[in-house]
Amino acid sequence: LKKIGVLTSGGDAPGMNNAIAGVVKSAHAKGIEVFGIKDGYKGLINGWFTKLDSDFTLDIISKGGTVLGSARLPEFKEESVRQKAVDQLQKHGIEALVVIGGDGSYMGAQRLTEMGINCVGLPGTIDNDIVSSDYTIGFDTALNTVIESVDKIRDTMTSHNRAAVVEVMGNRCGDLVTYAAIGTQAEVFSPSESKLTEEEICIQVKKLADINHRSVIILISEKQFDAKALAKKIQEVSGYDTRATILGHTQRGGRPTGMDRYLAFTAAMFAVDKLIAGEGGLYIGIENNQLVARDIESTLNMPKPDRTQIINKIRILNSKQIK
Ligand code: ADP
Repeated sequence: LKKIGVLTSGGDAPGMNNAIAGVVKSAHAKGIEVFGIKDGYKGLINGWFTKLDSDFTLDIISKGGTVLGSARLPEFKEESVRQKAVDQLQKHGIEALVVIGGDGSYMGAQRLTEMGINCVGLPGTIDNDIVSSDYTIGFDTALNTVIESVDKIRDTMTSHNRAAVVEVMGNRCGDLVTYAAIGTQAEVFSPSESKLTEEEICIQVKKLADINHRSVIILISEKQFDAKALAKKIQEVSGYDTRATILGHTQRGGRPTGMDRYLAFTAAMFAVDKLIAGEGGLYIGIENNQLVARDIESTLNMPKPDRTQIINKIRILNSKQIK
């Protein structure tokens, strides 16, 4: 193996740059050249390739986002479009690829492997919605951002005896809500996997009002409620002056945490080892603190981890404060 490429695809996540750095350093150590591909599969079909040097890695490891850029290219599902990518790679002598992204990006990586370009995927998304990895690159940073934001919202809600609805990202995965609820002692939380109804939320907040609880944080996963309308309803039922905050894209940016840097870099090293061994169609995850490589095909239908037990336990703890 003489030349490999690296690209970031789908939604960006803090730590993607550390994964890029891990690919560059571990490939260079084995005498392999690395080409950065701009804007994911879009750059792949257009030949937007730049040779990366080792010094580059020091400039990027503390930065959020992805220095390579990311884009979506739905046409990549068509074989004729993917053929353009294969042609570009062959023209540049690039034999294999590391793809950093989510489930959609892995499908592209799988299809490219079937067309003769070995690809290995790394789990990059803040949502933690890749079932074959306990944690994804970017989740820890986003979680810390959510917790810091909720702590700040708590300060002012407590000062004013208010309630706050806080909408958190996660696509269809509620982990950011569940983990942040535990980290901030949010009184009420509605993660994607264990949604509450508007009525259930209002009843819980009303019970807190009845015991003069000073402030209330209600964490909700995105794509469930209209946060402002929910806040209005809570205010009507509970009497708390209730505000809504949609944390939005602040959750996607920022300096990657130590845990994200560690996961990204070590997973990237592992991916390069797999490519050197001539393997492709794999994606790397972390399971019980061990890196694992699985066939992409086998991971797509894996069951989601069940968080019901912990969610219910925390809800019971929360309800105990209501006498
Ligand atoms: P994520 O990787 O974060 O899940 P997307 O689902 O948007 O993000 O996928 C990223 C890109 O991967 C898509 O824009 C497309 O280029 C490519 N892709 C997604 N699904 C497939 C597929 N079934 N076959 C080939 N390429 C795909």
